[in-house]
Parts: sequence; structure tokens; C-alpha cells
Amino acid sequence: MASTDRPTIGVLALQGDVREHVAALDLCGADPVLVRRPAELAAVDALVLPGGESTTISKLLQVFELLEPVRERLRDGMPAFGSCAGMILLADEVLDTRPDAQHLSGIDMTVRRNAFGRQVDSFETDLEFAGVDGGPMRAVFIRAPWVERAGDEVEVLARVPSGPAAGRIVAVRQGAVLATSFHPEVTGDHRVHRLFVDLVRDR
Ligand code: GLN
Repeated sequence: MASTDRPTIGVLALQGDVREHVAALDLCGADPVLVRRPAELAAVDALVLPGGESTTISKLLQVFELLEPVRERLRDGMPAFGSCAGMILLADEVLDTRPDAQHLSGIDMTVRRNAFGRQVDSFETDLEFAGVDGGPMRAVFIRAPWVERAGDEVEVLARVPSGPAAGRIVAVRQGAVLATSFHPEVTGDHRVHRLFVDLVRDR
């Protein structure tokens, strides 16, 4: 495992915007590594689940025999961060997905897939992110989910500030597991990745 200064953080590299997370983690003081095999998962301190297509990643998690190993690491307290499709995968209940899609149950929440609808399925906004200094954060939503139910142990970190979806929950944390509906890996604002790397380092 990594030294405590530069934690080894895996990025699940089955599908999705893996490179963007690798670059952000590197800039935030972690050693990012790609995870495609159980042995690679076993060697990381934490795991990032990228944006992409959750049903495809779900299928590939099974093909690559990673579904149960990731669930087990999450049960053992491994820190994790999921953006967009990654948020969907971390939920324990998903609405509007395929009946055969599998989830990792890292956060006690119900997530609605493609929740923002066809008219506004991709958009950007500035939002307040709890526990992150430096003013509002630019958030990029691409066919994003929202959190429809957050369990008692789940801390709400951000909501949509205005518009038709005002008040919808779009960032959450439960223990060492973080999830955002939007893509902090694509904006060049690395405050969420820094928060995650600090959280991993604290463990
Ligand atoms: N709509 C995608 C899904 O269901 C998520 C989109 C994204 O990750 N940008 O997985």
C-alpha cells in the first residue's frame, strides 16, 4: 500500500472518463492506478468510479469478476468516490435503470438515472458544496442522476440551486464514500478530488 502522503487510488477502468479522474487525482497528491482486475483492486487504498454508462460498467464489473470484490471492499470501509455513472453504481437502489443492472450499495440512497429529463439532460450551473472553501463550484451535468432518497447516515453536500430541478440532491457523502451527479473531473476545479484525497489520507 501507499505511503500515507501519496495514497494509491484506483480508478475503475472498464468504461467511462477514466483519464480525467487519473489526471485530477495526480494533481491532488495521489498515485492513481487503473483497476481492471481483482488483484489491482486489492492493492489500492481507495477507488474512484468514473462517469460513463452505469449499465455498461455494471455488466463489465460482472465480466471482469469485480462486482463482489468491490462490494466487499466497500463493506470493509474502503473510501470511494463516484461521479455520475459512478454515483449510480454506488447507490443501493436505482430508479429508471435496466432490471439486470447491479449496484454496489456503498451509500444508503436511492438514485434516479437520467433524472433531469430530455429537455435539459446536459447543463452547467454554479453550486455551493458543503465543506469546500473557495466559493461556488462549476458543476457539469451530462445525462445525470439525482439522489431521490438519502438515508439517515447520508450527508447532503450539494443541491441544484435554481431552475426546474431546484433543491434536488446532487452530492452526498456517507462515511468515506462520496458521490456527485456532476463531473468534477472535467472542469479543472479539483476541489472535490482534493477533498477525497484528504479523506483517504486521513484514514
Ligand atoms: N446516464 C448515464 C448512466 O446512466 C450516466 C451519465 C454520465 O456518467 N455522464 O450511467
